[in-house]
Amino acid sequence: MATSVYNPFESAQEQFDKIAELLELDSGTRELLRQPMLETHFTIPVKMDDGSTKVFKAFRIRHNDARGPAKGGIRFHPLETPDTVRALSMWMTWKCAVVDIPLGGGKGGIICDPHNFSAAEQERLCRGYVRQLHAQLGPNLDVPAPDVMTNGQHMLWMLDEYETIFGGRYPSMITGKPVGMGGSLGRTEATGYGVIYVLKNLLREMNIPVESTTVSLQGFGNVGEYAARMYTELGGKVIAISCWNQADAKSYTFKKESGCDIEELVGIKDSFGGIDKDKASALGYEVLPGEDWLKQDVDILIPAALENQITPTVFPDISSTVKIICEASNGPTTPDCDALIRKRGITLLPDFLCNAGGVTCSYFEQVQCSMNYYWDKSEVFEKLEYCMTKAFSAVYKLSVEKNLYMRDAAYIISINRVAEAAKLRGWV
Ligand code: NAD
Repeated sequence: MATSVYNPFESAQEQFDKIAELLELDSGTRELLRQPMLETHFTIPVKMDDGSTKVFKAFRIRHNDARGPAKGGIRFHPLETPDTVRALSMWMTWKCAVVDIPLGGGKGGIICDPHNFSAAEQERLCRGYVRQLHAQLGPNLDVPAPDVMTNGQHMLWMLDEYETIFGGRYPSMITGKPVGMGGSLGRTEATGYGVIYVLKNLLREMNIPVESTTVSLQGFGNVGEYAARMYTELGGKVIAISCWNQADAKSYTFKKESGCDIEELVGIKDSFGGIDKDKASALGYEVLPGEDWLKQDVDILIPAALENQITPTVFPDISSTVKIICEASNGPTTPDCDALIRKRGITLLPDFLCNAGGVTCSYFEQVQCSMNYYWDKSEVFEKLEYCMTKAFSAVYKLSVEKNLYMRDAAYIISINRVAEAAKLRGWV
């Protein structure tokens, strides 16, 4: 969803080139890893409820599968672009590598606005996506999952279409399914909880008690909600939350200096993560412009909505109280902002480390589906925290040892792992 002059794929390539140079990768490896291995662009005709047919543009992009089958979500968004999907597929490769799970990177998307669709139209769209793409999907090939504006029900319709085409049961071909239908307990919470497991470890390293900290958050969808829940459970205080208002076609920031009541806000949000502005106001929340989430005097900023939100233009608005930016969304910071963040001494937890909890739990889901044996929630969270802590520790250690920005340290670990896999396979 390239909503500005920033092209996320160019950002992703810029980040890769910088580390490739640092690692002195050979030209073949660079050429292989700076672009996707496979791209599919297609159209999906959908019969709408009024009898008309609408045609939607869709994509599936596989960045790299040297370490295992491609893995990555499918987004529904009116501003989806091939370059956004390319960037996201590339970030998935690095994400799976940084948490050291045996998967590669992929991503998909459909240009559409599901806000305006009936459930039956959404089902036909999901089935249409799989009908066009089924030959390139599968547990050993490419495994989709939910992302922005897609959910477990969408995944199950996609699975059912796939199983209808192939005539069998293949629950590990897609993840993020509803619990009881091949989904893993804890998948809903996993990305947001994973963000906070990483943040908790960083705060421990920085000798800052979680209970003494405050957060301002952008996004209150799946990731934002569960990050807020886990963070407040640990004793932290969320001061402000920004989210999109579909009716007004703009975002608002909801602020309560004494701390947002997450449960209360969950009770007045819609299924797309938008908070009801009138109800919030009646509950005593200040309703501020959407971009004000960045201007709050807090210790930690958590972007959990879209990419390209922290740019050099808005950077001066960030309060001098901010010590940590914890990137829960994908690509929230533009590459030209990294130097400013570093110069100001803000510690940045990079996106593909921070939000890797989702794909890690998706991997757990695949493992459970393959065994046809499902774990308790506590077992899932225990394994998730172990993986996130291990990944954080490796990145943090390297960043301290070599005096590196944490994004660069994470990239070094991931790119090295993927380059090594490609080399071992004899590809480069
Ligand atoms: P979601 O659709 O559930 O929620 C998105 C949230 O962002 C909503 O609250 C929406 O109101 C808000 N939003 C949208 N536009 C906004 C704007 N202009 N200003 C303020 N708020 C805005 O999506 P999600 O699943 O929570 O994903 C959020 C981010 O995290 C995305 O970048 C996604 O790629 C990334 N991510 C998601 C997962 C996952 O498991 N869901 C995993 C890894 C990364």
